[in-house]
Amino acid sequence: MERYTEKIRERARDLLESGKVDVFIGYSKGSVPMMNRPALIREPREVNKLLWDNHCALNLCNYLTKRTEKIGIIANGCNSRNIVTHILENQIKREQLYIVGIPCEGMVDHRAVARAVGQRDILAVEGLGEEFLVKGKDFEERFTKQTFLQRNCVTCRHHNPVIYDEMIGEPVEEGELPNGYADVEAIEGMSSDKKWAFFAQLISRCIRCYACRNACPLCYCPTCFVDESKPQWVGKSSDPTDTMTFHLLRAYHCAGRCTDCGACERVCPVGISMRQFTRKLNKDGETFFSWEAGLTLEKRPPLDTYRPDDYNDFIK
Ligand code: SF4
Ligand code: SF4
Ligand code: SF4
Repeated sequence: MERYTEKIRERARDLLESGKVDVFIGYSKGSVPMMNRPALIREPREVNKLLWDNHCALNLCNYLTKRTEKIGIIANGCNSRNIVTHILENQIKREQLYIVGIPCEGMVDHRAVARAVGQRDILAVEGLGEEFLVKGKDFEERFTKQTFLQRNCVTCRHHNPVIYDEMIGEPVEEGELPNGYADVEAIEGMSSDKKWAFFAQLISRCIRCYACRNACPLCYCPTCFVDESKPQWVGKSSDPTDTMTFHLLRAYHCAGRCTDCGACERVCPVGISMRQFTRKLNKDGETFFSWEAGLTLEKRPPLDTYRPDDYNDFIK
C-alpha cells in the first residue's frame, strides 16, 4: 500500500505545476494513529503531505460537492463509485476532474485494532506489507492485515476504480465472494418485533452527533432535514423515536446511492454499525433493480428513473 505514496506525490506535483488542476485531493496523516484525514493540496511544495496506507478510509468525494475549480483526486473502488454518483447527481462535472485511480487492498478497522490491544493507548501504527506493527508506550504488537480489515472491505466487490484518467499500479483481483449479504439475510429472517428490537438496540447509544451524515458524500443537502426548524420534521433530542426517525430517513435518502464505503461507520464516536440500514437497501437495489450504485455514467439510478409503462399501479 505504502508503495503508492511516492507515485501519488509525483502525480500531484506534476498536475499542480502544469496547471492541469488547481487543487489535488488526497489523504495526509491525521492527528491520531489510523485516522488519516483528507488533504486539499494547492501548492506543489505541499505534496509531501500526501500518503496512501491502510488507514485512508474516509470518502474523498465528500470534498467535491459544488466545487468550481479543476480538481485532481485519488480514487479507489468505493471513492470512484461515489464520484460517479456525484457526477450523475450534478454535484460536479466530469471535465473538472482528473482522477488518479488506485487499486485498493482494503482498509484496517481501527476499532478492531484497539480491541486487540485491550484499548491501551496506541501511539503509532506502521505498515509492513501484509502485516502492521502497533506501538504503544510500553508495548509493540504485530498483526496480519487480512484479519483486521474493515467489514465493508471484507465484502467489497469493487476494489479497483470504475472511472479514472490514469491508474497508479496494476488492478487487484476482485475475486468471488461467497455471500456478501449474510448479515442482512439474518435480519430479514427475524420477526417484525425482533427486527424492531434489533435496530432499537443498534442505535441505542447514538448521541445524534451527525458525524455519520457529515462523513457521507451522499449527504450534501444545504440543510439536512434534521436541522430544519420550519417545519421541524424531527425532534432534536436523543429521544429514541427521533433517533430512529433520523436513521431510517437518512438510510432511505441513501437508497440506490450508497457504495458501502464505510466512512459513516468509521467516524461514529460510539461505534454504531449504521451500515446495517443501508446494506439492506443496497441488497434490495441489486435484487429488484439489478443495480449497484456508482458503477456507470451511462445509466440513471433506479430511484430517478421514470417509465410510463411501469408495471406498478402507483405510477399511473
Ligand atoms: S470498500 Fe473496497 S474500495 Fe473501498 S476501501 Fe474497502 S476494499 Fe477499498
Ligand atoms: S451511507 Fe455510509 S457507506 Fe454509504 S456512501 Fe454514505 S458514508 Fe459510505
Ligand atoms: S455518528 Fe454515531 S452517534 Fe453520531 S449520529 Fe451517527 S450513529 Fe449517532
